[in-house]
Amino acid sequence: MQIKTEALNYTYKKNTPFEKKAIRDINVTIPANSFNVMIGKTGSGKSTLLQLLNGMLVPTSGNVVIGEYTINSKIKKKSLHPIRKVVGTVFQNPENQLFSDTVLQDVMYGPLNFGFTKRQSEAQAREAMELVGIAESLFSRSPFQLSGGQMRRVAIAGVLACQPKVLFLDEPTAGLDPQGHDDIMTLFQKWYKEREDRSIILITHEMEDAAKYGDNIYILHEGEIVLEGHRTEIFQQVELLDKLGLDIPVASRLLSKLKEASGENIAVAQYDVQG
Ligand code: ADP
Repeated sequence: MQIKTEALNYTYKKNTPFEKKAIRDINVTIPANSFNVMIGKTGSGKSTLLQLLNGMLVPTSGNVVIGEYTINSKIKKKSLHPIRKVVGTVFQNPENQLFSDTVLQDVMYGPLNFGFTKRQSEAQAREAMELVGIAESLFSRSPFQLSGGQMRRVAIAGVLACQPKVLFLDEPTAGLDPQGHDDIMTLFQKWYKEREDRSIILITHEMEDAAKYGDNIYILHEGEIVLEGHRTEIFQQVELLDKLGLDIPVASRLLSKLKEASGENIAVAQYDVQG
């Protein structure tokens, strides 16, 4: 499912002394069936953009177009319901959202809430648990008796059981050791590759994940996407960006120079480079 933004803006606490423009005029097209990584420093707007793309926040101005649905400032709450069915989101520390008496009930909660029958919800829950590696022997346990790693897997299964087309991941490996991090990322990659009509949009500040998993990479800086492209177009530059501590104006200027020099199709978003 393709997601597109048109002149997208978001301002927190508009018309108050605390007004903060977090997203500035973003026009981006995220193709269907792709693994996308949005990267940027803390405060660059990643989390706000994710919540606009998944319909949790409504734009201050502009549009978010998710498949056949358009979200803008005039949308009615009811119209967001069908959108919520096609997107899923795994937040940081998703295990904090576990609440049911048993693992199986917890994973079935989402599909039941979306109106799937009990039987169908259980089938989807079982499929999701198989994918995340939660054994049947744990289904009747309390989620709170599990290890931290298992709890995270159960929480992820709860999102996957709703069978989203687009899965949003907000730093889903926060707090895990390197092995745990790789295990969870592998699991998402497996989910993504299992069917052709699935997309992932991951936000992170970890360059390694962008390099390893992203088909398309979007670099955010002060509420704008300053660089976007297929990994092959921009990842030759990642070392440089890293060395510069994601000092985007400089990196972006260098990239445009490279583009001029090589004549290659390196995607450089419009950016008013100073200095
Ligand atoms: P990131 O996810 O890249 O760290 P965010 O989207 O969280 O960035 O934040 C973008 C900007 O919006 C930051 O300047 C942040 O301080 C501000 N911001 C985020 N949430 C709120 C909020 N609820 N109220 C006011 N400002 C906010």
